[in-house]
Amino acid sequence: MKAYHRGNNHSEKIISLTFDDGPTEFTLRILTILEKNSAKATFFCIGRQIENYPEILEITHQSGHLIGNHTFHHSSKNGFYSTEKIIDEIVSTNQLIGEKINVTTKIFRPPFGVTNPHIAKALNKTQHNVIGWDIRSLDTVINDEKKLLNRITGQIKPGSIILMHDTSDKTANVLEQLFVFLQKENYKVVPLNELLKIDVYEN
Ligand SMILES: [Zn+2]
Repeated sequence: MKAYHRGNNHSEKIISLTFDDGPTEFTLRILTILEKNSAKATFFCIGRQIENYPEILEITHQSGHLIGNHTFHHSSKNGFYSTEKIIDEIVSTNQLIGEKINVTTKIFRPPFGVTNPHIAKALNKTQHNVIGWDIRSLDTVINDEKKLLNRITGQIKPGSIILMHDTSDKTANVLEQLFVFLQKENYKVVPLNELLKIDVYEN
């Protein structure tokens, strides 16, 4: 299965920020920090969370960020689902996103980054681009903000795709510090369509 893990640009200092598992009540603070730094990011949203926070999805979209599909239930059993069940998870989430913000998203990130032949078959059917990452922040695992920041900055290179989660204030704190580093190092944050030169939405 083809998946994108980073951009091909090995000279230009551009990277992408991605936030998984929202929308949540923590998303708004992330949006404020992105806005302050004139950066556009990509949010891989869970259907169930969109049902809980539809207005936050709308604000994220209206602020110029991209929306990707991250399944409807984000089940820990996702890796054991049949092809049909995975298709249902993806299609129902795409439909909900379409209802709320009137776009058809073509990018998908599998929960926990897990892929298998069923998921590959499902994606072949739904025709989504699979988006991975080359820097996993571990922001849901590591509690020390300084350690988290160093983990990310130590791995950044041109073309990097950083995985974070808009599910805690800790991530927002680290994001503020990350922007200080990016500015110092002359890195520019661009949305995934620019980094990967792909269409994120169906025309
Ligand atoms: Zn996730």
